[in-house]
Amino acid sequence: MTAETHTYDVVVVGAGGAGLRAAIEAHEQGARVAIVCKSLLGKAHTVMAEGGMAAAMANVWPEDNWQVHFRDTMRGGKMLNQWRMAQIHAQEAPDRVWELEEWGAVFDRTPDGKILQRDFGGHRYARLAHVGDRTGLELIRTLQNRVVAKKLDVFMECTVQRLLTAPDPETGGERIAGVFAYWRETGTFVRFDAPAVVLATGGIGKSWQITSNSWEYTGDGQALALKAGAALMDMEFVQFHPTGMVWPPSVRGILVTEGVRGDGGVLRNSEGRRFMFDYIPEVFAADTADTEEEADRWYTDKKTARRPPELLPRDEVARAINSEVKAGRGSPHGGVYLDIASRRDPETIRRRLPSMYHQFKELADVDITSEPMEVGPTCHYVMGGIKVDPESQQTTLPGLFAAGECAAGLHGSNRLGGNSLSDLVVFGRRAGLSAAEYAQAIPADARPAADEGQVAEVTAAALAPFERFGTEGAENPYQLQFDLQAVMQSLVGIIRTEHELTQAIKEIAGLRERAERVAVEGHRQYNPGWHLALDLRSMLLVAECVAAAALARKESRGGHTRDDYPGPDPEFAKINHVLRLRDGQLELTAQALPALPPELATLFETPSAPPAPVSAPGAAGAAAQA
Ligand code: FAD
Repeated sequence: MTAETHTYDVVVVGAGGAGLRAAIEAHEQGARVAIVCKSLLGKAHTVMAEGGMAAAMANVWPEDNWQVHFRDTMRGGKMLNQWRMAQIHAQEAPDRVWELEEWGAVFDRTPDGKILQRDFGGHRYARLAHVGDRTGLELIRTLQNRVVAKKLDVFMECTVQRLLTAPDPETGGERIAGVFAYWRETGTFVRFDAPAVVLATGGIGKSWQITSNSWEYTGDGQALALKAGAALMDMEFVQFHPTGMVWPPSVRGILVTEGVRGDGGVLRNSEGRRFMFDYIPEVFAADTADTEEEADRWYTDKKTARRPPELLPRDEVARAINSEVKAGRGSPHGGVYLDIASRRDPETIRRRLPSMYHQFKELADVDITSEPMEVGPTCHYVMGGIKVDPESQQTTLPGLFAAGECAAGLHGSNRLGGNSLSDLVVFGRRAGLSAAEYAQAIPADARPAADEGQVAEVTAAALAPFERFGTEGAENPYQLQFDLQAVMQSLVGIIRTEHELTQAIKEIAGLRERAERVAVEGHRQYNPGWHLALDLRSMLLVAECVAAAALARKESRGGHTRDDYPGPDPEFAKINHVLRLRDGQLELTAQALPALPPELATLFETPSAPPAPVSAPGAAGAAAQA
């Protein structure tokens, strides 16, 4: 029935940092591996990452270690992280950076030749290994070279539509049997049979109007997992990066790197006030400067000065900007001012922030060496995602693994900058390892085989939009996407209320009904309207998950802020929200957070532990890019 079928041990869906690292590891374990990706190899979201990857290598601050990184990550996530994932991440990230170097990544250097590390919000020490302002590109280049050298099979511009399953004799439920996809260029279908699948499909940001995310971020992995019977977790936590461009409209949402603030840029309101001093939360007060003099001194004297409040974690800064705009102290286009022009000389700005200089000059006709930038929050990252086992990255569906931004658990309610790139390689490796072990443990004559019924069903569903063209009540996919983005932006944005979330759920249900009538014109050969019609199914399902989880969490924590429940609630500190599909309906349950072991709990006993740094940095003040 399907024209094209391939057979592998492990199929990795996604060719960003997580997918490539998973594929390399599964191959190293002797598995036959395929990488399937929606865009061209090298075009994944990871390539856009600029600032760096967080790892406690202690190259700049010898005091740094995995315990401090673990503590920063947990505090940044407001303690909702799966502690074991945060521990594994902090412990293994340095090895993954050194491994990348061994594989050919050329990181920036300290004067004494070590890998240079830079400051970022929420990290106590300068901790981000980086390559100028193109760390993601170097990460992808390095992993891609290895994939090519190892001759792994890559299927590009091939979009996975469904996970195939078969009965699992061990559990009596279902287990993974492969994936079903279509070629974007020809529109023809392709089936991959495999007992293990790793999802590494990235995030969900394309469902909001203002986002730093690209067209690929439609939540496919999360939706595929959910529909196949796996669970999602923490979906209420969406990160709005504080600084995206706000003007002109065509570039709204494009990221303005955290590096502007890392290099001395400050946020001001329309009255010229450096307002972040008004928004220092209690939990970070001990580590944050409370005068402009101390904050400015920190850039050259990290021994006696505390960090500027502009470098608080992203959720804090985004909320502060939002409050200033709401209070009528915003810039003309609904943002605030990010000013580096009055703080650093033009030559330094051009040298340290070349991409930002060009971005503003070319896209907004603003010279950031002489004028402030206008910035505002932009939808950037999803902390929630597919629920996985911390050690193996296995989901709740046997044979299905997930890693990278599409997986949940490491970041809790808010991710620290730089912790994503290290997440990709730490947990990408673990997912590849576990998937290979799982696949190899299944005897050749006991491999799962999906029945043809599933294939017939998904084929018919994929082609349905063509058949509806010209029928009464047919819906345009672009209009539906536009309407969904408007709902998510206005009702499930940075500040939420019960009334708005209830309204959002109603509106999303209406959009899902309309999506049943979505129609496309033309043929299957490279037809973007058809591609969007298929993507919309993931976008709508995931949007519903975010709204439902956000409605259930009656408190404010990390990336989730409720106007009607402005503070954190100790009861909600004990649970993660887990989502499943039962008979086509979303089911939300509260799951108790695993208890922190005593040896890790002691790390949080003093508000400012561990002690302040005492030794001089090897190369302090290195610029940070978001
Ligand atoms: P991606 O790199 O996005 O890869 C997803 C892959 O899945 C792609 O290959 C895509 O084609 C494929 N895919 C998706 N759906 C399907 C489907 N249905 N079928 C087949 N393939 C599919 N993080 C940091 O730690 N440090 C930074 O400095 C940093 N800077 C950033 C700057 C920007 C502008 C942005 C947007 C993000 C930044 N981040 C940063 C976050 C980080 O880049 C991402 O979280 C991370 O790269 C995600 O990697 P991934 O491997 O999970 O997914």
